[in-house]
Amino acid sequence: MNCPLCAAQGPRRMFDKNGYQVLLCPSCDTAFIDPMPGEEAIRGTYTLDYFKGNRSKFGYADYSAESAFLAKNFASRGKIIESFVPRGRILDVGCANGAFLAALGPHWEKHGIEVSTELLKDSPPPKEVAVFAGDVLEYPGAEGSFDALTLFEVLDHVRSPRAVLKKARALLKPGGLLSVLQGDRSSFFAGLLGSRWYIYIPPTHLWYFSRAGLSRLLEQEGFEVLRAEYEPRWASLTLCLFRLSYILPSFLVDPFYRLFKGTRLGEAGIRFNFRDVVTLYARAR
Ligand SMILES: [Zn+2]
Repeated sequence: MNCPLCAAQGPRRMFDKNGYQVLLCPSCDTAFIDPMPGEEAIRGTYTLDYFKGNRSKFGYADYSAESAFLAKNFASRGKIIESFVPRGRILDVGCANGAFLAALGPHWEKHGIEVSTELLKDSPPPKEVAVFAGDVLEYPGAEGSFDALTLFEVLDHVRSPRAVLKKARALLKPGGLLSVLQGDRSSFFAGLLGSRWYIYIPPTHLWYFSRAGLSRLLEQEGFEVLRAEYEPRWASLTLCLFRLSYILPSFLVDPFYRLFKGTRLGEAGIRFNFRDVVTLYARAR
């Protein structure tokens, strides 16, 4: 078969997980799942369950409960964006409850896209955010109208990362800033865990990028990569345990998860950095 991202021949099997094959394309250094789910199946993933931890092993323990920690992570990312583009119109693709946009100052005109209408109903973004409920490829915003655009953990959820990057490039002004956050398949931590790495969760994640492969993809789609960051991240003890359940046998993790979920200790923050999640900052050429 040919690579669905770069069309080169010769993707080879890395391992099987959750009933899917994970294949690696040696040409573009990107891994992907086979079979690739259809558009309907992908859309069906982002029900409220995904954000509330009811669907075991996927998504978030409770996205809203993480907001204080997410705000810290988002504020530091916002500062880096502002070091390149200090103000203007910003679009957050996959904005969820608008937490990233809320962490930015009032000198930004804030726009968000979120595919989960259920989430928007349950946890609506703040009033200052103009939200489009739907698919980024159907977003009606004017071309060349944004100063900054963010894709945090989005590209691995969509059928065509290339199409989304083309759309992002079209929406940005020339010189506008793109920020892309993804798990880094080529990181030491990912290599250490192999197929148990918590980012390898077919069919939620369809693609697994390396830092080099992702940088090259951005360059091909009209961006100049300026900076790569492995940010420390804050998360609650509950979310850490939830994520650990991807890696360790459930009988080791589940008792602690049940013990701490909903308690004050479970809401305590942990700062960690496995250096396995990379944020690329790139300028639209
Ligand atoms: Zn490829």
